Amino acid sequence: MNTNLIGLSPDELKSALIAAGVAEKAAPMRARQLWNWIYVHGARDFAAMTNLAKDFRATMAECFVLARPEIVSEQISNDGTRKWLLRTGPGIEFETVFIPEPGRGTLCVSSQVGCTLNCRFCHTGTQKLVRNLTAAEIVGQLMIARDALGDWPSTGENRRVTNVVMMGMGEPLYNFENVKAALALVTDGDGLALSKRRVTLSTAGVVPLIARAGREIGSALAISLHAVRDEIRDVIVPLNKKYPLKELLEACRTYPGVSNARRITFEYVMLKGINDSLADARELVKVIRGIPAKINLIPFNPWPGAPYECSDWEQIEKFAQIVNRAGYASPVRTPRGRDIMAACGQLKSESVKQRASERLAEEKMAVMRSAELARMPS
Ligand code: SAH
Repeated sequence: MNTNLIGLSPDELKSALIAAGVAEKAAPMRARQLWNWIYVHGARDFAAMTNLAKDFRATMAECFVLARPEIVSEQISNDGTRKWLLRTGPGIEFETVFIPEPGRGTLCVSSQVGCTLNCRFCHTGTQKLVRNLTAAEIVGQLMIARDALGDWPSTGENRRVTNVVMMGMGEPLYNFENVKAALALVTDGDGLALSKRRVTLSTAGVVPLIARAGREIGSALAISLHAVRDEIRDVIVPLNKKYPLKELLEACRTYPGVSNARRITFEYVMLKGINDSLADARELVKVIRGIPAKINLIPFNPWPGAPYECSDWEQIEKFAQIVNRAGYASPVRTPRGRDIMAACGQLKSESVKQRASERLAEEKMAVMRSAELARMPS
């Protein structure tokens, strides 16, 4: 199969060109031209690259593809939020959500199909991990969104996607290399060109990788905190049993680059009667003392069979007030896209884990079928 150029680093792209017969001396320039077409202009095929020689374009088309995920379905919420179900192979389906706001737009990107963490309040947590997404599949989510929103070139004024949050399906730090490679593309100044400050990586608390993420990825950090006592966090975020609160907060305190200008976001889902007491609020401000932080209070978003309820609105307000008075910004996040199951923690696809052999067999069948279709008289 032809190599996909999307997802490659600049060096990998150069090597791929040389392997395809481009002269070593010409490769850097060719790579820069392709890069510009792919990531600045969002070119979807080589034919569109009109300033490149025809025979060069033909060679490219023989050797390579520019493969984006395929859109299985698009849903638009009555609040303007859009959710795409994407597919990159048999049984590999994942969701991406665009949340428009006045003056900005945030794309919520998935890192895995399914998840291993089993957070009790999260719908994705009920779907077993199928596999990690590749760098191409991760960066492809932003490219699909830009296609759908007419948001090319990436350098244009008034871009619709201004922020990326790694808050879709999966735990990004459990797919470290691919997330790192994808975010390098997302923040490449000569390409998709989002500033690192507008990219946020959210983790449920994979402590040993947090410092490395700061050093090697350098995005903003969000922590899915949700509870401030280990007894409770152990139950709702089981990863806490492995990396308890004290270690997690220490990793936040020492996160590379953290400062008042670059605060850590603590996400706190409001679960009625579980983590929403005023004593919890006071404990919250106590445990994060000294960490430059903002706190995002997220009203719990329901899903079929969820074992929790959202806290009462009054309780959320009282909770927020305590956090606020302690000197922390504590916006209550307005739920977006609930009607299309696109809000925080509602994402899930039907994909199930198959044995690699089964998947390969299906992929082969699919290729044979499409070859057959191509041979059929139309
Ligand atoms: N695994 C990473 C990335 C997922 S981010 C992480 O845990 O940070 C998705 C965010 O939505 C997390 O903060 C998650 O805890 C939160 N969330 C999950 N289920 C939710 C629900 N039902 N209602 C509100 N927020 C939820």
